[in-house]
Amino acid sequence: MHRLLLESHNETSVDGYQRDMNFDANMVIILAALLCALILALGLNSILRCAMRSSAAVAQRTGLKKRELRKFPVAAYGSSEVEITVTECAICLSEFADGERVRVLPPCNHSFHKTCVDTWLLSHSSCPNCRHSLIELHVVGSD
Ligand SMILES: [Zn+2]
Ligand SMILES: [Zn+2]
Repeated sequence: MHRLLLESHNETSVDGYQRDMNFDANMVIILAALLCALILALGLNSILRCAMRSSAAVAQRTGLKKRELRKFPVAAYGSSEVEITVTECAICLSEFADGERVRVLPPCNHSFHKTCVDTWLLSHSSCPNCRHSLIELHVVGSD
């Protein structure tokens, strides 16, 4: 009698072990599926990021390159290196102070703070005051 109890006890524990094994196998499948989903999501994410970066590059093509910006003269306001015909920056609407770095746009002689106009010209290719194109100047040449 005692022995029978022991056997039946052993059997249930074996059943339980097999159930654990099945459970483990299911878990492995679920984990593998989750891993696949994660890899897929990461892949999609990087594809999206790539697409966004290339569209941003297209948008930036309307502005000037830093290399092109350097062709426009920069002078300290108040010095006589370059003639500055205006007294205030049309972008931030504040008056130039002596010694401030001012960039002069050659086709129209409009002058702006260097930092103000540089930010503008990275996304636009014309004078912020009179809309004179600054790309023509370099491609065709000016008179
Ligand atoms: Zn300014
Ligand atoms: Zn201008």
